[in-house]
Amino acid sequence: MERVGILFVISGFSGAGKGTILKEVLSQMPDLKFSVSATSRSPRVDEIDGVHYHFISNDMFEKYIESEAFVEYAKTFNYYYGTLKSEIENPIREGRDVIFDINVVGAKSIKEQYPDCITVFVTPPSLSDLRIRLMGRNSETEETLDCRIKEAKKEIIEMQNYDYIIVNDDVKKCANALISIIKSAKYQTKRNIDVIKSLSEEQK
Ligand code: 5GP
Repeated sequence: MERVGILFVISGFSGAGKGTILKEVLSQMPDLKFSVSATSRSPRVDEIDGVHYHFISNDMFEKYIESEAFVEYAKTFNYYYGTLKSEIENPIREGRDVIFDINVVGAKSIKEQYPDCITVFVTPPSLSDLRIRLMGRNSETEETLDCRIKEAKKEIIEMQNYDYIIVNDDVKKCANALISIIKSAKYQTKRNIDVIKSLSEEQK
């Protein structure tokens, strides 16, 4: 049987440290493809167009919506964020695993469209930790900081729908936890039905 790529959807409060964990995981798993989302927000100082996001204008984003270029999209913090169909369909066909950094709305939508995907929620140990991390990022004003904390409070209720939860108290430890989840996925029974079929055939 041809290998079908597995989708790993990672969500977490903005500022939970997902980005750092993903960077570590991707450096250790070079075959894993990061899904580069499109967004209408401006790049932060260390962000590169086409690597972290496809940075596009609001108008362009709306044109993409009209032309049905997205698998899913959401508007958070007044900006659009969306997963392009091309980021998902090509790797699946090529049998490559893909990892997504998307919010709870996007994760829900991907789970509906691709029920075999694996969802992981990354959280800091507490909301006060989250505030400290966001302040340390130096890219937040008092207003955007409050907005991100408010959004986090709304997202807590969605955590129960995820397959896995990782508490980010140490980047290396969390990256290893995520790597374990990714590595074990291919052994799930539902991904090995052909093994059962072949053994059943043999015993006839
Ligand atoms: P940030 O502005 O901090 O990079 O991201 C803000 C939020 O948007 C994060 O929770 C991130 O996971 C989410 N996000 C990034 N890309 C996408 C996407 O393509 N779709 C959705 N639904 N959310 C996204």
